[in-house]
Amino acid sequence: MTPLTQDIRYIKGIGEARAKLLGKLGVSTLEDLISYFPRDYEDRTAVRPVAELADGEAACVLATVVSPVRRARIRKGLDLTKTRVADASGAMDLTFFNQNYVKDSLLPGETYYFFGRAEVRNSHRSMANPVFEREGAPRFSTGRIVPVYRLTAGLSSLIIARAVDRGLEACGDILPDPLPDALRERHGLAHARFAYETIHFPPSFEALKTARHRLIFEEFFILSLGLGLLRGRRGREDGLRLHPADPGDFFRRLPFSPTGAQKRAVDDAVSDMLSGVPMNRLIQGDVGSGKTVCAAACAWFAAQSGYQSALMVPTEILAEQHCRTLTPLMAQCGLRTGLLTGALTAKERREVLYKLASGETDLIVGTHALISEGVEYAKLGLVITDEQHRFGVTQRAAIAAKGNRPHVLVMSATPIPRTLALILYGELDVSVIDELPPGRQRVDTFAVGEEMRPRIHKFIRRLVSEGRQVFIVCPLVEEGDAPPDDRRAVTEYAEGLQREIFPELRVSYIHGRMKDKEKDRIMAAFAAGESDILVSTTVIEVGVDVPNAALMIVENAERFGLSQLHQLRGRVGRGEHKSYCILFSSSKSAETRERLNVMQKTSDGFVIAEEDLRLRGPGDFFGSRQHGLPEMKIADFATDMETLREAQREAGALLREDADLSLPVHLPLREKIARLFDPASGAFN
Ligand code: ADP
Ligand code: MG
Repeated sequence: MTPLTQDIRYIKGIGEARAKLLGKLGVSTLEDLISYFPRDYEDRTAVRPVAELADGEAACVLATVVSPVRRARIRKGLDLTKTRVADASGAMDLTFFNQNYVKDSLLPGETYYFFGRAEVRNSHRSMANPVFEREGAPRFSTGRIVPVYRLTAGLSSLIIARAVDRGLEACGDILPDPLPDALRERHGLAHARFAYETIHFPPSFEALKTARHRLIFEEFFILSLGLGLLRGRRGREDGLRLHPADPGDFFRRLPFSPTGAQKRAVDDAVSDMLSGVPMNRLIQGDVGSGKTVCAAACAWFAAQSGYQSALMVPTEILAEQHCRTLTPLMAQCGLRTGLLTGALTAKERREVLYKLASGETDLIVGTHALISEGVEYAKLGLVITDEQHRFGVTQRAAIAAKGNRPHVLVMSATPIPRTLALILYGELDVSVIDELPPGRQRVDTFAVGEEMRPRIHKFIRRLVSEGRQVFIVCPLVEEGDAPPDDRRAVTEYAEGLQREIFPELRVSYIHGRMKDKEKDRIMAAFAAGESDILVSTTVIEVGVDVPNAALMIVENAERFGLSQLHQLRGRVGRGEHKSYCILFSSSKSAETRERLNVMQKTSDGFVIAEEDLRLRGPGDFFGSRQHGLPEMKIADFATDMETLREAQREAGALLREDADLSLPVHLPLREKIARLFDPASGAFN
């Protein structure tokens, strides 16, 4: 038996050239090959009598070659091969264009399966370029359910099917089955060998269903085990038990009173941290609902028991902003805040690390620099991540591992379907902030076309003359195959705007290729009112707070997802000023109109997320790999939820039995898990 890790180049019948093409599809080992599942199937099972073929019908017939196979050169570059075939019902002519090999492979007197589109003219039947396979020989593309694969130039589904067939052959009779027998029997799951063979070459749709189910289960099972291992032995038992303290003491020092929803979320977290069980809580709240203050209250609470907190955010801009907001808040209570990002100088970094390790810092705010090598905490008790699906599960696990089973709090503005949340965060509790701070105004939103541009320019002038500021977001522009160049898009746009339209206003801009220091400087200058208009790509999407900004303009709005537009819109309407959002789009597509219309109608992030899901389908929602989960080959988080739950239950049970899967029988599982997760993360080494 060939090991599953074997390079496909060495598999009999595949060869160097094919292996290279398959490599482009991410297929390089035997396991990749047999796991390269069809994206669809075509049912060519029905074999039709020749005489019954209708014009235009795509069909399969079983017929014998009844005339010599003739080849003729019509002109340079056009060769025709012709013959006639017949079954008991009647005959038809076959024509092949530029397929000279046909003459040698179609033999008069032999019977073949043909698949093609029939043409009927005055009861004369013919087919052009049918695929054919001899009766009795192995068949891949006629008279059966045919796999359809995702392709790349130079490969056809047929070529891939043949390669897979070779691969399955190389695997031998027994494919090692990573699923424990007992589990397989409990859930009525097919054997690995049957499943892999059937998923590619189903004898029936019934069998296909059985095979699919088994493979989906396996994929979710491996995923759940992997995540379980990542989370480690963070037991339900011994969490840090913090001392009681009243968050009201913290809230009273705020310049505003917390909303009921904010208080409830903090109370939930506080009782978790008092319980002795490690907290694993998600606080979900729309943009602007005031999650930062909740995080601060929790950090304050941990500090009352002498513990440090870490707040991890996705970008440096955000880290610095949070640090600016939190430092004075914490200082009022005698607590010290630090900032750790990749932008620090070596000297600054040394100092920050020293204060962390010596316990001088109570709250550290940072990017994933927080989980980098050499960062040590004197007494880490609470880990908060503020994110929009931006941290991979591995990163989240890495920071939790920095402390001695710290409490974990995740804050998200994106409503996450329950199942996905379970996968991303494990067994978690959820608090929802379903109330906005008082006085928050609705951001009036208009989806407009190019013809409105002059009026919008006037509007911008008016707002700026009233002292307000404006965000303009332009998406990455892709030209042909060139990678999107946001520097050019933003720079040209901003300079054009400054020169031709608003010479009297102060236009600044930010793009993704700037150094973080530079970005922060510009952002800070904008926040301080030193420019009127800030042009950027979506770098400002997450959490940036400029209360004086009253207008958000989004160019080419059709390129953004609704949830993303909602995040962008959340950048304005954060202060006392009436705020607006203008969505420019010249797209005429009905779907775009409908989507942008949703933005005009509602400002409820949950409604918007649902609409997004409905209009774009779950594929898009789950398609983004920002959540850091490994890519699923066959399982679908949205449609295979029931199987997911079962697989999760079984994974939990297995880990209770063998917490690190160290039993020899579980070795194949361990290996599969290691291969599924990004090996670069080193999580399983
Ligand atoms: P998000 O949930 O999007 O992270 P933030 O925490 O950034 O929201 O809060 C948005 C703004 O609302 C901040 O300027 C914050 O100071 C303010 N804010 C938060 N809570 C309240 C409240 N209860 N009353 C008034 N303003 C609040
Ligand atoms: Mg926020």
